[in-house]
Amino acid sequence: MPIVAVDDTDSRERGMCTTYVATRIAERLADAGGRVRRRLLVRLNPAVKHKTRGNAALALHVTGIDAERAMNVAVEAVTEFAAASDPRTSSGVVVADRDVAGDPFDPTGSPIPDAVAAFARRALRERLSVETAVELADEHGFRHAAVGSAGGADDDSVAGRGRIGALAAVGAPAAFDDWTVEHISYRELDRCGTPRNVDVESVFAAAEAGYPTVWDTVDRETGTPVCVPNAPGPILHGIRGDDAAACREVAAAIDGEVVDRTATFLTNQGTDAHLAPGRIGDLRDAAGYRVSGVVAGAPETKRGGHVRVDVARDTDRDDGDGRAGTSSADGGTLCAVAFAPTGRFRDRVRALRPGDRVTLCGEHEVRPAADEPDNTLKLEKLAVRDLVRTEPAVPTCPECGRSMSSAGRGQGYRCRDCGTSAPGKVDAPIDRELEEGWYEVPPSARRHVSKPLVRGGFDAPTRPER
Ligand code: ATP
Repeated sequence: MPIVAVDDTDSRERGMCTTYVATRIAERLADAGGRVRRRLLVRLNPAVKHKTRGNAALALHVTGIDAERAMNVAVEAVTEFAAASDPRTSSGVVVADRDVAGDPFDPTGSPIPDAVAAFARRALRERLSVETAVELADEHGFRHAAVGSAGGADDDSVAGRGRIGALAAVGAPAAFDDWTVEHISYRELDRCGTPRNVDVESVFAAAEAGYPTVWDTVDRETGTPVCVPNAPGPILHGIRGDDAAACREVAAAIDGEVVDRTATFLTNQGTDAHLAPGRIGDLRDAAGYRVSGVVAGAPETKRGGHVRVDVARDTDRDDGDGRAGTSSADGGTLCAVAFAPTGRFRDRVRALRPGDRVTLCGEHEVRPAADEPDNTLKLEKLAVRDLVRTEPAVPTCPECGRSMSSAGRGQGYRCRDCGTSAPGKVDAPIDRELEEGWYEVPPSARRHVSKPLVRGGFDAPTRPER
């Protein structure tokens, strides 16, 4: 009664897709007498460089077939469908002989070993090696195989690298407690590479009907049908949401070319499983964080349209390990960046002012290029905690209402006409375009694993993008 997991079967150029390979494996397992109880689509560290696109790994929970037979079926299907001609493709299969008839998601009674669950958690926030994966799989008696030709000298062509993701997909149910759904409709294989025929109007109507249970189907502001991929693979559309029946309903309401086959996956998409609390000045490279800070400079719009703003550690509100920070000045700063594709989200970032208190979510990168800042956080969303609402201004005369003039260095202000005086600058209210609460990138710029605000559970008011 095994868990059959697979990863790294696709290619940017040839355009296979691991969800499709997993779907074909599932069909063959069923043909061999197995019953596929669950399909898991697990997103791993989005910062891993050798991913094809979204760093996805797949796992099938099967009963009624033994592990050895399941392994043979999986390897055969991967050999047949994986884009093995791409030297960067490095497929891996892991089969764990564990009883999945019960509830593998139950944190106390899960048949998945704790160490494998821990590996899955690490796979979202670290860069792991095939050796670590193989060692752990061996330790627990899991079968594993490298399929295909990769295996060169550099790290990007290691043989069976897909075993990292596959093992993480095995561990995922015991590692994560928030699960969403994606219902994928596939094209006929011989149409792959040709333009997709999907009626965009029907996508928008179906998205409207399914919202908010079904989310990120479209981006209304840009008019993009987000559920229809651009890449050349076999997916016609993928409908994401919190309920399988609702996702299927939306998919069924979309008009377009013939749907060849469909599959519904449980996923960690839209859950923020990649984020952990952190402190500015204390963040690892290529990991996702949620950090608090104080805006330390005016936002700048750079060439190419991305917006940057410096944020310093907020000593009053550290989210990290609870240790008190030292001071903003020596606690380091972070350059928060909203890239051009995040569109209107950049206006929120541009509206920040020095002194605003914020919580930022995104991927941390250490000095990506020589002319880049040392520490960058690629923003996925942000919460405005406290806004600076006043600024020092020259006082106005209470008699005539005109601006007073300086009375000399350190001597305050006075009105030359009326003779009134004031000891110094006064606090003048500023018009702010932001309010306290959460803001996010639009659906068209969302990372798969990033949690959309519409799903709820945030600690302040939200303004979901749709
Ligand atoms: P697609 O989105 O089209 O399914 P992909 O983005 O998932 O493609 P893959 O071709 O599957 O990309 O490549 C990802 C590779 O990275 C796999 O070999 C996987 O095992 C490996 N990998 C995943 N997570 C990690 C990690 N945390 N550390 C190191 N390698 C990882």
